Amino acid sequence: MVWLRLTELECRADAFERAGQKLIARAKRHNDLIGRHVHLDGTAFTTYARAIHDCPDAQACTDSRQRARGGELRVPRELVRGSAEQADAVRQDAAETPEDEVGLDPVADFGISWLDLQDPRLADIPLSRRQRYRWFEQIGHIYRVADTTAGARLLEPAGVGRTGKFHFGGELMMASDDHFHAPLSVLTQPADVQEYEHYEPIYAKTAAAVGDPYSMTVDRGLHIKRVFQHNLRHRVSTICDWRQPKAATTPNGTSAPSLTVTASRAAATAATPATTMAPGSASS
Ligand SMILES: [Zn+2]
Repeated sequence: MVWLRLTELECRADAFERAGQKLIARAKRHNDLIGRHVHLDGTAFTTYARAIHDCPDAQACTDSRQRARGGELRVPRELVRGSAEQADAVRQDAAETPEDEVGLDPVADFGISWLDLQDPRLADIPLSRRQRYRWFEQIGHIYRVADTTAGARLLEPAGVGRTGKFHFGGELMMASDDHFHAPLSVLTQPADVQEYEHYEPIYAKTAAAVGDPYSMTVDRGLHIKRVFQHNLRHRVSTICDWRQPKAATTPNGTSAPSLTVTASRAAATAATPATTMAPGSASS
């Protein structure tokens, strides 16, 4: 019941958001420091829906990798779920990937492929049942999840005798004021949408309340050309950990260690460049 009532409110979310923006804008008229330096951060959240193995003949379904080792033939009934903390850690690791290798292969990044309800692999399932779930394929097997809005992200790949471990849920992004440490706007996204896809929407929400900030401090996952170009157009400084733009640009082919940029206020007052170079990368 609580879930239904809260879901009903979702179509009114815009009105709540606009009211909040008006209040923040009014506060800014009294104190122009509000929204001058903005910090964007994301935190994973988990859905409690489980991913249930649901191939047409699931009882007969066997795992070829396990069979090859003479192990248990049955595919486990559900995929192993990881915690939101593990999802955050994996996302941070993914931000180490050079910029030109990001988003090339969603199946490799997220470990599954979502199935359309009309997909022939679901043809034997009655439509009314198909519509109750979201369906996906992982290593040749079909799974369903009851939460039709949740995304999925691979945390640990499958190995012999075990399925992969997944995060089912999404990410809550929050833009907060770096001086007052108060939230300015929030955005949720499914776990299988790249973080940078939502930079422009949450920026727009923030700017609707406080206008263009002087600086945006963002996670390394947002260190991509599109974000820098957006901020240049809006004359906003970008404060972000360094990320390799191209794969293997250092002599030994590994990513150079990065300098961490501290809080944007400190960076701004010390007149630090908006982005820092990683030691070693300057030689490339
Ligand atoms: Zn199967």
